[in-house]
Amino acid sequence: LPGTNPQIKPELMEEHLRATGGKYVTRFPPEPNGFLHIGHAKAININFGLAKAHDGICYLRFDDTNPETEKESFAESIIETVKWLGFTPAEITYSSSYFPRLYELAIELIKLDKAYVCHCTAEEIQMHRGGPERGPRSACVHRDRPISESIELFEKMKNGGFEEGEAILRMKMDLENGNPQFWDLVAYRVLKTPHHRTGTEWCIYPTYDYTHCLVDSFENITHSLCTSEFAQSRASYYWLCDALEVYKPVQWESGRLNVQGTVLSKRKIAELVRRGHVMDLDDPRLYTLPAIRRRGVPPEAVNNFIHNLGVTKADTVIEIARLDSYIRDYLNNTALRLMGVMNPIKVTLENLPEGFEMSVTVANKPRDPSMGERTIPFTREIWIDGSDFKEIEDKNFYRLAPGRSVGLLNVLCPITCTNVIKDPNTGRVVELKARYEDGEGFPRPTTYIQWVAESPKHGSPVRVDEVRLFDNLFRHKNPLSISEVPEGYLSDINEDSMKVERNVFVEIGIWDLMDRWAKASVSGTDYEAIRFQLTRIGYFCLDRDSDLGEFRDPTGNGPLQETTKKIVLNRTVGLSVSRTL
Ligand code: ATP
Ligand code: MG
Ligand code: MG
Repeated sequence: LPGTNPQIKPELMEEHLRATGGKYVTRFPPEPNGFLHIGHAKAININFGLAKAHDGICYLRFDDTNPETEKESFAESIIETVKWLGFTPAEITYSSSYFPRLYELAIELIKLDKAYVCHCTAEEIQMHRGGPERGPRSACVHRDRPISESIELFEKMKNGGFEEGEAILRMKMDLENGNPQFWDLVAYRVLKTPHHRTGTEWCIYPTYDYTHCLVDSFENITHSLCTSEFAQSRASYYWLCDALEVYKPVQWESGRLNVQGTVLSKRKIAELVRRGHVMDLDDPRLYTLPAIRRRGVPPEAVNNFIHNLGVTKADTVIEIARLDSYIRDYLNNTALRLMGVMNPIKVTLENLPEGFEMSVTVANKPRDPSMGERTIPFTREIWIDGSDFKEIEDKNFYRLAPGRSVGLLNVLCPITCTNVIKDPNTGRVVELKARYEDGEGFPRPTTYIQWVAESPKHGSPVRVDEVRLFDNLFRHKNPLSISEVPEGYLSDINEDSMKVERNVFVEIGIWDLMDRWAKASVSGTDYEAIRFQLTRIGYFCLDRDSDLGEFRDPTGNGPLQETTKKIVLNRTVGLSVSRTL
């Protein structure tokens, strides 16, 4: 990191070093006013990562100075998300815990003639800031009121003697300075909304500009890391620490992370939910971290993605597909493979005896013995994926067709389609007859397809209630760009962003996975941690809309699957780049 602490009094530095022992102290400071998003993953990695790299500590600090937008439930979600990403705060702190101390320092600031109570409206403040149409910058009439008057009025503000907007406390900075962050920033305002932690104890609340640097100072933060839009605020951050003669951390900015093809703003996401374009704030098509989690993305994949971006001063705008590739890489190495079929067609292997059934042992991941193996039934009647059969002649189709052969994954011999049975009324293919080719010398098939056994006694197939397949929520790369989408992001919704398949079978191997999860899960609600690849279809996880019922008692008597009430799968990512953008 560039630079050391800006000029600071030796005694303040000594005191700081006594408190920290010379170690790095950082903080991740979200406002509890919504879910964290992919951009925050960068800030989390930088703050926790820097501290860890230097054997220091990192706090999770809630910057909760705006009671109108903040909620305890958002704080809980943020704590959970930071934990999910794999980080452990040294302590969870709240700016609101420092309200009394911040108030005392505000009084002190007034006494130093560096703050004053002001009654200007927002419009009047704008006017005084000057500009091409408004003329030169100017001080307001309140700026030079006596210190004693400001103290009295500030106490009156605190005691509820002013309504919202009637009085503010402003820092007396430097109107001559070219940096707007010196034009007498607001330090306190009156807000009569109860605070989620301090209730109605306060009716004045400190602003970000006043609070952030002081709380950093109280907590002996060594490196106050923030995003680049705060570069101009660095000078006012230092100004306040210096004015009050408190320990001054070094502020350092890095670029924001944005992703294309989505919106991250809380207000816009709320609007998408309200209009029913997405199911919830954690809809898997969104890029809040709870949404990414619900889609089945492993936290390690998010962190790998962030690490690869590196830390730069400039903002970065990333294509969604780039995150996808990190997810795919990670899952390719870690996810167990299962067979599943969508819109299944029944295939009867006529040359096998009635009721035929054998066990096949299957690698959980081909060519990776460390992932273990499982045993599944192979039967006379099996199910194949609807898309793996084509009745009409097509030279470029290498899967099952009348008179043609195909290999079955995990089974030695190929099958040949001998007959097509159709519903006489609809003409729809309802069943295929086929021959199991166990004769010697049968040519090795070029293509292998997945299948699922029909074995009621083993509970096969496992019927999936819903499979959700996702695509981009927006049609354009930059739904917020006026030139790309002149009608606004709400006009850019991709109506096909979620396809739901309700006719899906998977093999019984899914129970082993759930069993393992049930034994390992702490919360018992993190269904998304049940992740696997459906061979040839993609990577999936269980959605929280699933209901595993009594499944969590794997030592119970009956077959586990009987108690499961609903299985909903999310496709986390396809096997290859499959996005429309
Ligand atoms: P948003 O309005 O998108 O929620 P914010 O800056 O208001 O962003 P905070 O909750 O105040 O969000 O942010 C907590 C920390 O995360 C801050 O240090 C902020 O700079 C950082 N952060 C927020 N968005 C991004 C982003 N897109 N990329 C990198 N860091 C970010
Ligand atoms: Mg925010
Ligand atoms: Mg903010």
